[in-house]
Amino acid sequence: METVFIDGSMGEGGGQILRTSLTLSCITGRSLHIENIRAARRNPGLAKQHLSCVRAASKICTGHSQGATKGSKVLDFEPGPARSGDYHFDIGSAGSASLVIQTILPALFLADKPSTVTVTGGTHNPMAPPFDFLNETFLAAIATAGFHGNCKLIKHGFFPAGGGKISFNIQPWRNQPDKIIDLCQPNSDFQIHARVYTAKLPPRVAQRQRTLLLQSKLNIRNVEHVEVEDSNGPGNCVMIRLCGSERTTVFTAFGMRGKPSEEVIRELVGLVEDFLTSNAAVDRFLADQLLIYMAITEAGSFTTNELSSHLQTNMEVIKKFLPVNFSMEHQKHAYRISCQRF
Ligand code: AMP
Repeated sequence: METVFIDGSMGEGGGQILRTSLTLSCITGRSLHIENIRAARRNPGLAKQHLSCVRAASKICTGHSQGATKGSKVLDFEPGPARSGDYHFDIGSAGSASLVIQTILPALFLADKPSTVTVTGGTHNPMAPPFDFLNETFLAAIATAGFHGNCKLIKHGFFPAGGGKISFNIQPWRNQPDKIIDLCQPNSDFQIHARVYTAKLPPRVAQRQRTLLLQSKLNIRNVEHVEVEDSNGPGNCVMIRLCGSERTTVFTAFGMRGKPSEEVIRELVGLVEDFLTSNAAVDRFLADQLLIYMAITEAGSFTTNELSSHLQTNMEVIKKFLPVNFSMEHQKHAYRISCQRF
C-alpha cells in the first residue's frame, strides 16, 4: 500500500491534522509521511502532547516512527496491526488526555476484543474535549453508529498542573448497516443545566458564575457546583448542558487568571445561543470529531451550526486515506454534512 503524504500546514494547520493522520494510518494500515507539522501554530512542530499521541498510536498498532522528537516538523509512521489490550499512557504534562484518547479510539473499536485505556494528563483543558463532553456528548453520538464505549473520571486535571486521569472501556465495533450517524434533527424537549467546576479557588468565583448564569437569557434550570478537591492545581471551567430526550450537548468555557467571570459566562452563553438559533443537531466540536466514524461506516449525516476549519481540514485528511466523499449543503442557519463512499 502506498504511503500517504500529508502537508501539516494545510487548512487548520494544527495538531488535529497530525492526530487524524495517525488515527487513519492505524485503521488503514497505510504508512504516513507528514511534513510541516503544526506549521500554523506559534510553536510549530511536535510538542509533548503530540509525542504522547504518536507513542500511543505506535503502542496500539505495533508501529514504528521516525522524527518523533520535540519540535520535529516531519514524522514518518509505519503502523502494524492494531491490538486490543489494557493500556496506560502518561502524558507527563497538562496535555489533554482526551486528545490522546481521540487518536487511538477508532483503532481500538476496530480491534477484535475489548480494550481498556487509562490516560494521565489534563481532563479539563481549553481547546480540547473536556471529560464531560466525551462522556455525555461524544460517546452517545458515536454509539448511534454502533461504537460502544464508556469512560470514567478517576482524577480531575486542569491546565497547567495536569495530573488528572481518565479511563476508557472500548467494545469492538460490529458493522450493522442500519446503524449510522443520523443527527440532523435538533434536540427536542431539552432542559438547560449548568455545571461549575472550581478547584483550589475562593468560593466567590463559583458564586459569581452561578449568579451570572442564572441572569443570562437562557432558561437555566439549575447550576451544579463541583468543588474539586483532588486536583494537583487550581482550575475553573463552566459548562452548559442541553439535556434532551435524544441527546445531551455540553458546551464549555474556561476561567483563568485575569479573565473575569463575566467574560467566561458571556463566551459560554454566546456559544449556546449561536447553536440554538441555528436549529442544528451537532455543535461545531462534535462535528469535526464525528467525521472519522462516518468515514468508517462510509455513511451518515448531521447538521451543524458552523463549518469550522477543523471540520473542513479533517475532511481533507480523511479523503486522503479512505474512499469516501463528504457533501455539504447550506440550510437556513445550519449546514448539513453527509458522508458517502465514492
Ligand atoms: P487542535 O486545536 O487541532 O488541537 O484540535 C482540538 C480538538 O479538540 C478538536 O477536535 C476540537 O473539536 C476539540 N475541542 C476543542 N474545544 C472543545 C470543547 N470546548 N468541547 C469539545 N471539544 C473541543
